[in-house]
Amino acid sequence: ATPAATMVGTSIGAQNGVLFKGGDILERVRDVDTVVFDKTGTLTKGEMSLTDVVALGPSADGGALDPASDDDALDPAPDGGALREVADDGDATAEAGAGEDAETTVLRLAAAAERNSEHPLAQAIVEGAAERGVDVPEAEEFENVPGHGVRATVEGDTVLVGNRRLLEDAGIDPSPAEETMHRLEEEGKTAMLVGRLFERTGETEPSDAADETSTAAGEVLGVVANADTIKETSAEAVRALRERGVDVHMITGDNERTARAVAEQVGIDPDNVRAEVLPDGKADAVEAIQDEGKKAMMVGDGVNDAPALAAAFVGTALGSGTDVAIEAADVTLMRDDPTDVVKAIRVSAGTLAKIK
Ligand code: ADP
Ligand code: MG
Repeated sequence: ATPAATMVGTSIGAQNGVLFKGGDILERVRDVDTVVFDKTGTLTKGEMSLTDVVALGPSADGGALDPASDDDALDPAPDGGALREVADDGDATAEAGAGEDAETTVLRLAAAAERNSEHPLAQAIVEGAAERGVDVPEAEEFENVPGHGVRATVEGDTVLVGNRRLLEDAGIDPSPAEETMHRLEEEGKTAMLVGRLFERTGETEPSDAADETSTAAGEVLGVVANADTIKETSAEAVRALRERGVDVHMITGDNERTARAVAEQVGIDPDNVRAEVLPDGKADAVEAIQDEGKKAMMVGDGVNDAPALAAAFVGTALGSGTDVAIEAADVTLMRDDPTDVVKAIRVSAGTLAKIK
């Protein structure tokens, strides 16, 4: 294109909230044949909220943790397995402490372990606990395990909150929670396990830990789940891209089942979904697509998207995204609207006329 045409395109882009980092980028976008979306914060709003708290089995009723009566502020579940979920309205306040039920214990421990994390999942758990009137204690020795979760010492216990891998790596078998996890993930929610290690100071271990033949290092206490909202225009963006013959993919650190539930809602082919990708793995995933001869545009917002944005033929960041992502990207979408990906391509192809 002539320098004049490039200037016009860049300016039309800017008027539409699509910022190209230079004229060469504008030309490059025209050749994009594949768009790879990050899920959280890109196709979804990234505004998580706590929707479910489930306590598992009798060993989760506090045990050595909270030798309290069952004088419940929140209703106990009728069965000992998957228990009731906390109300969505945030008004189901429970007086924490003595007499708290199993769900409150799970939420209190999870929120305590997460209170030092800045992850959106963590913030939703902490806010959810506050809304429900749960008194969240301080935590010590907080450790962030990127792509997996957190670990912290709460009231003398090592508490873990995160995915299956987090618990497995700590020697805890997550399978007692599998049915609950499965159900919540099919609803498109991000379900997180809440576990506890057995090594305790000055208190009795749960009985199965005393079993010499048992190699379990701890137990899963329950599950908490957060839901995110899919952006109103995500499905429209996917449809418009596919209409143009552009392949649409999705990459996420989230669980496979949750990822597929979201992909289905926005119209992305399940074969094009890569889930449980570790923060370092997103760039590899983009490179794998490009190794098949594709010219990929990666669209993301997070710190963990930055390497993939840099690796992609074109990196596109959302304006509300982290500075690191914007820095690594070639294009920024100021309106955070997935349909602006289509606009970027149309401006580049010269099919988007000046609007005003
Ligand atoms: P995303 O790509 O969706 O931003 P991450 O790579 O940050 O995801 O995390 C991947 C998965 O690791 C999450 O879906 C969650 O299961 C788990 N995880 C990460 N951070 C936390 C945390 N602070 N608390 C609980 N779970 C977490
Ligand atoms: Mg994201």
